[in-house]
Amino acid sequence: MDTFHFDVVIVGAGGAGLRSALELSKSDQQVAVVSKVFPTRSHTVAAQGGINAALGNITEDNWHWHMYDTIKGSDYLGDQDAIEFMCREAIEIVRELEHFGVPFSRTDEGKIYQRPFGGQSRHFGESQATRTCAAADRTGHAILQTLYQQNIHAGTSFFDEYFAIDLVLDDEGNVGGLVVLNIQTGQVQLLRSHVVMIATGGACQLFKTNTNAKINTGDGLGMVLRAGLPLQDMEFWQFHPTGVANKGMLLSEAARGEGGVLRNADGEAFMVKYAPHVKDLASRDVVARAIAIEVKEGRGCGPKKDHVLLDLTHIDAEVIKKRLPGIRDIGLTFLGLDMCDAAIPVYPTAHYMMGGIPTNLKGQVVTLDEVGKPQSVKGLYAVGECACVSVHGANRLGGNSLLDIVVFGRAAAKDIVHNLETKPVDHFDKTLNLSKAAERLNRWAQPQEKNHKTETIAEIRHDLQVAMQVGCGVFRNEESMQSLLKELEVLQDRLDLVRLHDHSNAFNLERLEAFELENLMGLATATVYSALARTESRGAHSRVDFTERDDENWMKHSLYFLENHQLRYKPVTTKPLTVETFPPKARVY
Ligand SMILES: Cc1cc2nc3c(=O)[nH]c(=O)nc-3n(C[C@H](O)[C@H](O)[C@H](O)COP(=O)(O)OP(=O)(O)OC[C@H]3O[C@@H](n4cnc5c(N)ncnc54)[C@H](O)[C@@H]3O)c2cc1C
Repeated sequence: MDTFHFDVVIVGAGGAGLRSALELSKSDQQVAVVSKVFPTRSHTVAAQGGINAALGNITEDNWHWHMYDTIKGSDYLGDQDAIEFMCREAIEIVRELEHFGVPFSRTDEGKIYQRPFGGQSRHFGESQATRTCAAADRTGHAILQTLYQQNIHAGTSFFDEYFAIDLVLDDEGNVGGLVVLNIQTGQVQLLRSHVVMIATGGACQLFKTNTNAKINTGDGLGMVLRAGLPLQDMEFWQFHPTGVANKGMLLSEAARGEGGVLRNADGEAFMVKYAPHVKDLASRDVVARAIAIEVKEGRGCGPKKDHVLLDLTHIDAEVIKKRLPGIRDIGLTFLGLDMCDAAIPVYPTAHYMMGGIPTNLKGQVVTLDEVGKPQSVKGLYAVGECACVSVHGANRLGGNSLLDIVVFGRAAAKDIVHNLETKPVDHFDKTLNLSKAAERLNRWAQPQEKNHKTETIAEIRHDLQVAMQVGCGVFRNEESMQSLLKELEVLQDRLDLVRLHDHSNAFNLERLEAFELENLMGLATATVYSALARTESRGAHSRVDFTERDDENWMKHSLYFLENHQLRYKPVTTKPLTVETFPPKARVY
């Protein structure tokens, strides 16, 4: 097998991977970035609304208010030290992005344009803040292109269109590299490194209706599970309130930030019933549930009464064209509707994973030792949506993910540089155990049995997505999840039997989808076991059979291990770094 050596290998070329890579390359580390798609096609490119920072360019602002909003938005499950760190760094890191060349929209005075987003406040909940820095409604596109260009300039090595199969561990269980597949040729290669960083993004392809790119299948999370490490808070999946109904594409919260209103079949702007103060700009879990309730109670729109309407027709068409060109385009392309003069059908759609690979503030992957004490894993880092540090707790605020990926992308890289410079590293003389990766590759090389064509990977994935949406969607309960568990067993049996129809080497997408499906199956069981155990409703985890938040028993993060579906827990960090704690309160909007 061809082997390449690097100081650091990063899996993922989204905003998180690229921000880390830039820091490492600039510090003269040999860094390779592996991506299954060309870097600027990573899902970060699709981010629309913007990135939060208390710049105060439009209305007065303060990072401490940003911190309060993030903790409240997280339904108090976010770790307050990490949240403080992120909100404090935000102001400087957005200016840094500006200096890298991100073409932010501008105010008349030439400052970075900011728009109001859900869950944002001034003076600790008093009035709406205007905190989301935007490049029209294509902010992720602007950030990703800029970071890619900066990396090319800094000399980062790229393995474009390479698929990461599995982490490789040495005999002591330390991470020593990664096995990858060249998608173009089908060739398998080993990348050896002192550090592997996982930055593989989100995984909402687990659900039928979602906003995510087709590549968002949680591959990094699958690798971590197979390496015997846990995933944290997997019961928390964010359903964005305004996906195009029955299709799933995102219509950014920016639409409501710019003044859009949700209406039911009676034309009623119903959010006032659910969040009298902030109405349509309540946090996402609240708005998504409100829409689902309106539809369930018969006030949905259309012949099937299965959606509500997002109405921007009262807003000046010129403002829509200037500030929301991308989402206007989505309406035109996918519905033939121009939001300047027609309301758009919307329904909640799976959007973001709050859970993921547990890390500390330095991006080091964390597990629990025998006595339950958090312990970092040597040589392994995780950043971006696949990581859980946890700044979003049970519910993420819009605009906080682009922030999370650059803040912790940079912080993790700094820690790696510090460690590589100050501590002696092993010089690639350890024997690596390649058997797990080889097993997976061999599994999918098995031929079809004669005269017995099996079903396709795509059919199993489709059924998994539907099952997850029905059994563990916006609302869930013991019954829906128990029957989902049974379905998952059947799906696993089907997966065990299925064979590839295509064994060619060049661009064999069926083989990649098989690897992806295995990863999704791991996430499905992690989600359902974690969600069944959490007998309360908090943030995006909304149980019909346990409707209240239970701070006495559940101020803790769940950690799911693949072996025997074991669940362990660690407490939420309620102590910030320098300021006072924000104790849990009822969330009132
Ligand atoms: C439609 C949409 C709009 C959004 N809008 C906003 C917004 O306005 N503001 C905000 O804050 N957040 C927004 N978000 C969320 C935010 O964009 C994402 O959470 C964030 O960009 C994720 O960045 P990332 O770097 O972690 O991952 P990604 O950008 O998803 O990148 C993942 C990378 O991993 C690589 N990869 C994955 N698996 C493998 C593998 N097996 N082998 C090799 N490479 C692999 C991919 O090729 C890719 O390069 C939005 C999300 C969506 C879906």
